Amino acid sequence: MFIDILGFKIFNDSKEELIKYIEKFEKINLISGNPEILFNGLNDKLLNKCFKNDNSVIIPDGVGTVIASRLLKNPVKEKIAGIEVMKELLKKANLENKSIYLLGAKEEVIQKCAQNIENEFNNLNICGLHNGYFDLNNCNSIIKEIQEKKPWAIFIAMGCPRQEYFIEKYINKLPCKIFMGVGGSFDIFSGMSKRAPRWMISLGLEWLYRVIKEPWRIKRLTSIPKFLVKVLKYNS
Ligand code: UDP
Repeated sequence: MFIDILGFKIFNDSKEELIKYIEKFEKINLISGNPEILFNGLNDKLLNKCFKNDNSVIIPDGVGTVIASRLLKNPVKEKIAGIEVMKELLKKANLENKSIYLLGAKEEVIQKCAQNIENEFNNLNICGLHNGYFDLNNCNSIIKEIQEKKPWAIFIAMGCPRQEYFIEKYINKLPCKIFMGVGGSFDIFSGMSKRAPRWMISLGLEWLYRVIKEPWRIKRLTSIPKFLVKVLKYNS
């Protein structure tokens, strides 16, 4: 059910199985393991600890992670995009009348994101939300609110490593079952950013679409070849 990439355990089954697997946990931290995040995890002690926790499950998000698994001759069954897992969890919350908390992104983005989620999922209860611009070490009012509202799942969209630092710091203090860092997903749910067209996603070119739309991302892409070189060295 898992493969090893550079010492990280990567989930190796379908999205549907992942949703079932979540039930086994009292608390789970779902990590979208794209090459950039995994590469950061090699160099940052706190991230490394977070990714290796017993309650962390890393999903193979991004074509670079799929290529890495192939280079290691242990290919993952499928790429699992974090945003699609978030959608499945929203569906589940809707079906089972569960509550969620949204944390991250700019104020206008999170407001619009919550509105769109509520319009699409009538039975789902967004029990609270907060934008992602606050001091991670001084956010008692947010922590208190989440403790009081007891959401089933909390989605944290503050980019890596900020969202992971939040989770690592507060996971044991917050009464949620599911923690998930979702990067720029609120921007997409809000309609303010668009996901790549389907054909680009299926060709593994989502990264290219994002660079065309947001050229400043080009610098961040350098972690993909660096990550793959590490994988090749690990393999030899
Ligand atoms: N963000 C935030 N707080 C910060 C910095 C960023 O909430 O201090 C939000 C930002 O508004 C955006 C998301 O985090 O919605 C960044 O997502 P990005 O696209 O960088 O993440 P990726 O999908 O690449 O992991």
